[in-house]
Amino acid sequence: MFTIGCHLSASKGYLAMAKQAIELGGNTFQFFTRNPRGGAAKDIDPADVAAFHDFAARHGIQTILAHAPYTLNACAAEERVQEFCLATMRDDLQRMEYTPGQMYNFHPGSHVKQGIEVGIEKIADTLNQILWPEMTTTVLLEVMAGKGSEVGSKFEEIRAIIDRTTLSDKLGVCLDTCHVYDGGYDIVQDLDGVLEEFDRIIGLSRLRAVHLNDSKNPFCSHKDRHEKIGQGYIGAEAFQRIVNHPALRDLPFYLETPNELDGYAEEIAMLKAFRK
Ligand code: FE
Ligand code: FE
Ligand code: ZN
Repeated sequence: MFTIGCHLSASKGYLAMAKQAIELGGNTFQFFTRNPRGGAAKDIDPADVAAFHDFAARHGIQTILAHAPYTLNACAAEERVQEFCLATMRDDLQRMEYTPGQMYNFHPGSHVKQGIEVGIEKIADTLNQILWPEMTTTVLLEVMAGKGSEVGSKFEEIRAIIDRTTLSDKLGVCLDTCHVYDGGYDIVQDLDGVLEEFDRIIGLSRLRAVHLNDSKNPFCSHKDRHEKIGQGYIGAEAFQRIVNHPALRDLPFYLETPNELDGYAEEIAMLKAFRK
């Protein structure tokens, strides 16, 4: 099965997102758990969640992906900032249990001059404080572009975070095509090689989701500017290989391209046509 969707606004709730995902031709969606800049989350409405589960079962939506606010920093230098991240993620993960067995993606963080080692240590420390044995959500570390002092643009950094997390069976990885290309992994010229490296360092069984974004910038530029599929430096042909690759084809794919809803519908249709 091809599991494909895009990032949607969560403002009208779960059922509204599920309906929109189907209208766009998809069968999954990603959403921010709260305002992406942080702040309080809207109360979860159990009736909305129940209606969502019913609709999802009838329309073949099996997977959804929540995204943490991108302003959080699990390895901030200021303790107050790290505490805010910890409290927000803990609250998000509790709320995720309304939709059991789903995935929660976050940006590992920026070490802001503390150095990569301290960054890795603090991120694992944050995870060790918020994960609990009975939780049903898989927490995904997103591979980053390496902009500024971002942690997690190298597979080794992701591996080190996983290794230092006690409940590491709760962790997975989300591969963002723009980030990984920007970070110096050439998925255009050597997709097989990049995935072999991922397997060797992290293990492909950890890979749980793919963000599909073209890149406004050339290989290894560490900029993190998403482009529409086929209109950037990654290009349509590479995406044909990506959505069909044996190591990727059964994963859920999420578009985070600069689009309105009609643009997303077109990209979903294009990617479906790419599938063999
Ligand atoms: Fe992200
Ligand atoms: Fe992403
Ligand atoms: Zn990005």
